[in-house]
Amino acid sequence: MQSTAILLVSVVFYLGIIQLALGVIITDPSQIAGTSPFDYIIVGGGTAGFVVANRLTENSTIRVLVLEAGIGDEGVLEMPIPFMGPILTPETQFGWNYTVAPQIGLDNRVFSYPRGRVLGGCSAVNYLIHQFGTDEDWNRIANLTSDPNWSWTNMKQYVQKYENLVPPLDGHNTTGQFIPSLHGFSGMVAASLPALNVTIDSRVMATLGQQSEFKYNEDTVGGDQSPLGIGFIQSSTGGGVRSSSYTAYYLTAATRPNLVVLTSVMVTNIVQTGTTSAGLKAFRSVQFVQGPGFPPITINATREVILSAGSIGTPKILQLSGIGNAADLKKLNIPVLINNTDVGNNLFDHTLLPNIFVVKDANANNTFDNLLRDPNQISIQTSDWLINKTGLFVNNIANNFGFARIALNGSADPAPGPKSPHYEMIFANLFFQNPGPFRPATGGYFTIGTMLTSPVSTGTVKISSTNPFDPPIIDPRYLTNQFDIIAMRESVRAILRFTAAPAWSDWIAGRFGQAFQNATDDASIDAYVRNLTISDMHPVGTASMSIAGTSGVVDSNLLVKGADGLRIVDASVFPRSPSLHSQGPVYLLAERAADIIKAAQRSTTSSTTSLSITPTVTSSKTSFPVTSTPASPGTVPEFGQCGGIVSHPSTVLF
Ligand SMILES: Cc1cc2nc3c(=O)[nH]c(=O)nc-3n(C[C@H](O)[C@H](O)[C@H](O)COP(=O)(O)OP(=O)(O)OC[C@H]3O[C@@H](n4cnc5c(N)ncnc54)[C@H](O)[C@@H]3O)c2cc1C
Repeated sequence: MQSTAILLVSVVFYLGIIQLALGVIITDPSQIAGTSPFDYIIVGGGTAGFVVANRLTENSTIRVLVLEAGIGDEGVLEMPIPFMGPILTPETQFGWNYTVAPQIGLDNRVFSYPRGRVLGGCSAVNYLIHQFGTDEDWNRIANLTSDPNWSWTNMKQYVQKYENLVPPLDGHNTTGQFIPSLHGFSGMVAASLPALNVTIDSRVMATLGQQSEFKYNEDTVGGDQSPLGIGFIQSSTGGGVRSSSYTAYYLTAATRPNLVVLTSVMVTNIVQTGTTSAGLKAFRSVQFVQGPGFPPITINATREVILSAGSIGTPKILQLSGIGNAADLKKLNIPVLINNTDVGNNLFDHTLLPNIFVVKDANANNTFDNLLRDPNQISIQTSDWLINKTGLFVNNIANNFGFARIALNGSADPAPGPKSPHYEMIFANLFFQNPGPFRPATGGYFTIGTMLTSPVSTGTVKISSTNPFDPPIIDPRYLTNQFDIIAMRESVRAILRFTAAPAWSDWIAGRFGQAFQNATDDASIDAYVRNLTISDMHPVGTASMSIAGTSGVVDSNLLVKGADGLRIVDASVFPRSPSLHSQGPVYLLAERAADIIKAAQRSTTSSTTSLSITPTVTSSKTSFPVTSTPASPGTVPEFGQCGGIVSHPSTVLF
């Protein structure tokens, strides 16, 4: 009772602090009525979008408008709590609540496909694992684009701008747990090592001495250091609080009068505003709606429109705008403005297989499962986090992970080089089968998630109709390539060798589920993999960078091919999957993109008036120029209905 009261008081106090920190975020488009034109309109206030918004508005003469479909996190207690990442999506008001198309490589299963729809985008709802990509990942991009500026030698300078590695909250001696020379200590996004040692950590480390195949890696962040081996997870947290692009990049720019963020608006398409003398179609106009049935509103940028709507949102907007595969667009009666068959193609994603072990009864209380089933315990942990920044919730859900390669036996290597992994293992002291709160009613569990990090299979993102509120068809075609299934199979074999070490003999009772228990040879392991694999939520590549003049959607300066005034800055431009977690690579990419845009600014003046339509925003929403038929009602939840504690279908935590 007392703890609940403390919790409530603290929530109110916490909300007060958040409100004070808020800057120029508006939800009513009429509030930009009569203001000066915007130099840049950024579509998507997500991970990359706020990096670019922050950097461009460092120059007080440059005006930037960010249009975001989601809402802010004011009043959402769970969002800043690192441990609660997995309950923020799916099936909450902070995500797009997509599902994948039936996956032929995964027994035709359909499952949820989380994407953040909130200020900060995926960085506000993700699982916070902090890595840079390997040097080989970046060098591969430089090779594919013939642009050495994407090489690691050049990209590593952005670590200093983006990363702020801070000591873990418990102040423990971190010698040997990270390599200082790899890191930045004064950048924007806080990152740190785990603060709380959990019961399985010492067993993971003991295994390294018992199974020689698994070696310790002092720092798995990537960059100059190969991530191969097993080490401590670094998370995008500081002082026990999530650091997102919203908290790190937006809030530090929030007081700038030249930055405006308009939330709860769905960008439906970009609009051609002219043609340059070189024959390029200019796109400096953006159309958006406040919800299904609202009239479209059109607004212009004097310099550029920057798409940062993510690997699903960006190709969707391009296709709705008439930029995409002509054959697909014609089927939907969308006038083709730029025929580019690569828009929405080349979707790479990492896969995740949760391998779950049942923990012996005597140890069950030492897993997180019992705690997470008990509302009282959750309340106590939450108030510890709120009041003291202590307890379990200051941590991520896992403290250790590792990366490894399979034997290639003469086949081509899909990794960008020998220092980069084929698969990953994450060790978590709880039951984790799918994103969300489900767990069995009793027992304790130990999950080792194995991920394919160098996938070969590629898929597509395609709009299914001209209604912007209809979800696109997301078909990653997981494990349709032989390499991918072999790598996943070998990852299962690896974790079975890992858990055969003496360190686990008094901890693990057995494998959870019939499919895992039956997985003994190639065929049965493959069946198990195909039966339970889901997305690791790292889609990239759907508006890929490429060599000038050849395939791809953007050039190496991220300008859309065949277009003028239109750039893409988000995960969709990566030509291949980074072989590590994708958030850090997106931050690095966006930091460099901001420099590219600033350089272009210096070499050009603001666009000529013949290519721009001055915004005609007035005080009434109905007075915006209505330039097309109002969108028909869609199926997504009404906009602007967020705030408050996450309402999840289940009451227990993940
Ligand atoms: C649940 C989850 C867990 C993850 N865990 C990790 C992890 O632990 N570590 C890691 O490195 N990576 C993780 N990732 C992946 C990582 O977060 C993403 O790769 C990265 O943040 C993507 O950044 P982005 O800028 O491309 O897109 P986003 O951050 O998704 O930004 C896109 C923004 O555009 C907005 N938008 C889209 N369409 C429209 C529209 N039509 N109109 C207006 N706004 C629009 C969206 O609402 C969103 O805010 C995770 C992702 C998810 C979803």
